[in-house]
Amino acid sequence: MIRTRFAPSPTGLLHIGGARTALFNALYARHHGGEYLLRIEDTDRARSTPEATQVILEGLDWLGLSPDQPPVFQSTRAARHAEVALQMLASGHAYRCYCTAEELRQMREQAIAEGRPPRYDGRWRDRDPAEAPAGIAPAIRLRAPREGETVVEDLVQGRVRVANAELDDMIILRSDGSPTYLHAVVVDDHDMGISHVIRGDDHLTNTFRQVQVYQAMGWEVPAFAHIPLIHGADGAKLSKRHGAVSVLEFREQGFLPEALCNYLLRLGWGHGDAEVIGREEAIALFDIDAVGRAASRMDYAKLTHLNGIYLRAADDARLTGEVMTRLAARAAADPTLRADETAQARIAALMPGLKERARTLVELTDASAFLARDDAPAADDKARAALNAEARAMLVRLAPVLDATDFSAAALDAALRGFAEAEGLKLGQVAQPLRAALTGRLTSPGIDATLAALGRAAALARIDAATQG
Ligand code: GLU
Repeated sequence: MIRTRFAPSPTGLLHIGGARTALFNALYARHHGGEYLLRIEDTDRARSTPEATQVILEGLDWLGLSPDQPPVFQSTRAARHAEVALQMLASGHAYRCYCTAEELRQMREQAIAEGRPPRYDGRWRDRDPAEAPAGIAPAIRLRAPREGETVVEDLVQGRVRVANAELDDMIILRSDGSPTYLHAVVVDDHDMGISHVIRGDDHLTNTFRQVQVYQAMGWEVPAFAHIPLIHGADGAKLSKRHGAVSVLEFREQGFLPEALCNYLLRLGWGHGDAEVIGREEAIALFDIDAVGRAASRMDYAKLTHLNGIYLRAADDARLTGEVMTRLAARAAADPTLRADETAQARIAALMPGLKERARTLVELTDASAFLARDDAPAADDKARAALNAEARAMLVRLAPVLDATDFSAAALDAALRGFAEAEGLKLGQVAQPLRAALTGRLTSPGIDATLAALGRAAALARIDAATQG
């Protein structure tokens, strides 16, 4: 059974690099009819917070990447990690080390002074435990092989190897009985039945030591796939100065989860030139061998473009709900906004036109805001210029024509065309001042649909207000 896992440490936000790792794990498992699990790596109690765990769970849920089983919390498994360390001790694959912190510090300093890498020198590896000094609680170290090499056949990186002489005997259980991170990961992956470890390539060098733990226990080593990290446009590791990095920040900025997933999928994995690949298609197509080895670069403009494509395809009722939530938040700070049922009905009516022009939910909300108020918003410069004296006089003549029209988009369109012809004007010469009066802007969906969405009373009141101005 193929079983993958996403194993974030809850020490901060859910980074989009992590989200992509989760996505690849989920897609790989689904593609092969397997299972995708989540492990919260909260062994570092000082740095892990429940809030960060919440952020991870919320972000995964939003992305549609919740695991197939309840999450495993690494911190709850400390007894098992210790048990395995003791088994390794019993089988001779580990030993007790009685070095004091001071001794280790000296060892490190001496190595550095002599230009050697600071490694543990193995001084308790073969020493008789009877020589153990009194009053020192020992740590447990892996008795790592000294000859030969450790080889990893990575599904993305290819064959990677290290000479065992370069790896020292790492601690698996600290003197206070707590497991070290590299040891805990192996025990958990084994116990969770993980067949494929797909993670960021910043963990590649950890893999050798982890493989040694598997080998010491006689456990089957899982397949590894170390995927390249996401960089910014300048090639540096993606960070806040490039733009949004946390998943919830992207949500805040108005990206749709399916667009973000699609973007992250295409970042480092390709299927020809196909740009829009939905979840089902991604599951059908995804495999790890098409993941490239080069770091990918985050391109916010591309993501925004893709988001626009998804926005136009999204369900109107859903988008209306998203816009209403955002308007309600804005209304709390802006008393001229009303996120009420009237606003909702108008926005729902105009949504087919509104979503054609927006690339994010923030833009969609901006474009919808004129519908969520009693009066038109203050006209911007262009709209004000369009509402010159001549245009205002035209609107005075137009108002009774509209009042006599059925307020359906089709009837309004016909009425506006008839009025323009009678006035000897082009349709745009009528529509632009009218749009300025209704929306305070010169851009909006079709003027007939905009009028219909506002409704007769509000439309005529706005025209009246504009002609007074
Ligand atoms: N907890 C590690 C991290 O957040 C991931 C470890 C792993 O995937 O093996 O980067």
